Amino acid sequence: MTASRVLVVNSGSSSVKYRLLEMTDGSRLASGIVERIGERQSRLLHFPAGAESSDPASGGERRERVEEFADHGAALRAVAEELAADGAGLDDPRLAAIGHRVVHGGRTFTGPVLVDDSVLREIERLIPLAPLHNPANLTGIVTARALNPELPQVAVFDTTFHTTMPEYAARYAIDTATADEHRVRRYGFHGTSHAYVSRRTAELLGRDPSEVNVIVLHLGNGASASAVRAGRCVDTSMGLTPLEGLVMGTRSGDVDPAVVFHLVRVAGMSPDEVDELLNKRSGLVGLCGDNDMREIRRRVDEGDEAAALAFDIYIHRLKKYIGAYYAVLGTVDAVAFTAGVGENSAPVRSAALEGLEGLGLCVDDGRNEAPATGPSAKEPRIVSPDGARVAVAVVPTDEELEIAQQTYALVSETDPAADPAAGR
Ligand code: AMP
Repeated sequence: MTASRVLVVNSGSSSVKYRLLEMTDGSRLASGIVERIGERQSRLLHFPAGAESSDPASGGERRERVEEFADHGAALRAVAEELAADGAGLDDPRLAAIGHRVVHGGRTFTGPVLVDDSVLREIERLIPLAPLHNPANLTGIVTARALNPELPQVAVFDTTFHTTMPEYAARYAIDTATADEHRVRRYGFHGTSHAYVSRRTAELLGRDPSEVNVIVLHLGNGASASAVRAGRCVDTSMGLTPLEGLVMGTRSGDVDPAVVFHLVRVAGMSPDEVDELLNKRSGLVGLCGDNDMREIRRRVDEGDEAAALAFDIYIHRLKKYIGAYYAVLGTVDAVAFTAGVGENSAPVRSAALEGLEGLGLCVDDGRNEAPATGPSAKEPRIVSPDGARVAVAVVPTDEELEIAQQTYALVSETDPAADPAAGR
C-alpha cells in the first residue's frame, strides 16, 4: 500500500495543533487542537473529515474531550487515540511521516530534516534562542517518536526559509566576536508561511518562482514582512526573536534598543518585566487596548482616537517596510498580503498602499473590498487593477500544508514506499 498521508504536529507552549493530510490531493482528513495542556481542564477538539470548525454546514461530527492532559505526551497520546478511532492511528500503513513545526533551527538547519538523535540534540542546543517554543516542539517530537518508533519524523523549521538571507541583511552592526559567541543575528520567523505565499503568488501570476520578486506581508497576531527575490528570501523583518519589525497584536516591533536600558535604569523594571512589556503589552493592544483588527476598525469608524492612532502607527510601519523592501529588491512583481489581518482587512491593504502609486502600487477598490466567502475565500486573488505595474495579491497562507509538503518531499526521497509524485 502506498503511504501517502502526513500528520502535521504543531506543539506550542500549552497547546498542540494537528492536521492529517492526504498528499495526493492535499485534502484534510482530520484536524484538531489540544489546549490548556498542564491544566486540570485541558480540552481536545477533534474534527474528522467533513467537520471543519469554520464551516458547520459541511457535516461530520466534531468530538470534544475535557480532561487533564498533564503534558504534551499525554496530549499527543490522546490525539493518537482520536485518529485511531477514525481508523487512521499512528500505526496506519498509509501514514508516511509526521511533520513537526519547529520554531528555531538557528543556522544549522537550512531545510527540513529527518529526525535522529543528533537532530534532537541540536534542537535542544537552540533552546536559548527560542525558550518558549523549542522545548515544546522537542517534546512533541520525542513523544510522537515513542508512540511509533518506526514512523519517520521530520522537523520543519520556521527559520529555514530565511537562511538564504545575505550576511549584510542577517548581521546586526554590533561587535562581531560578541555576536558570534552568543549567536546574535537576524534569523527571521514565519518562514513556512513566507515560502508558501511567495510560491503561490508566483503561481497566481502564472510564472515560475525563480522569475519573480515578491514582498510578502504576513499580518496576523504576529506579523512579519519578507523580500523574496527569485524564490529566495533576501530580507525579513523579524530578527533574533519574533519581536523585531512590524507592529503586531501585542508586540512592539522595532524600538530603539535604548528603550530597554531606559526602562531598566529609569523606570526600575527588570529585564523580564521589559520582555513581558514588549512582547505581551505592546503593539496594538498596548496602544489602544485591542489587538483584533476588526474591533479596532469598528472603533476607528466610531471616532475613537486611541484606535485611530494605533491604526495609523500600524500602517506607517507597514508602509516603511514595503518601501524598504522595494528598495532592497529593485524591481517588484507582486506584493502579497496574508494571515488573519492581511487576508481579511481591506482597510489595512488599501491604507498600506495609499500614496504609493508612484511605485506602481495600488488596489482596485472593488476587488479589494469584495468579500471573500465560501470555499473561494481560501483561493489567492489579485486586488490591483488590470495592467498594474505591480500586482497586489491576497494569498491565504497554509503553514500546515507547507509543512506537510516539505515533509512528504523529504520522505519520498528516502522511502520507496511513499509515492514521489504526490504532494509536490
Ligand atoms: P492569525 O494570527 O493569522 O490567526 O490572525 C489573527 C488576527 O487576524 C486577529 O487578531 C485579527 O486581528 C485578525 N482578523 C481575523 N479576521 C479578521 C477580519 N475579518 N478582519 C480584520 N481582521 C481580522
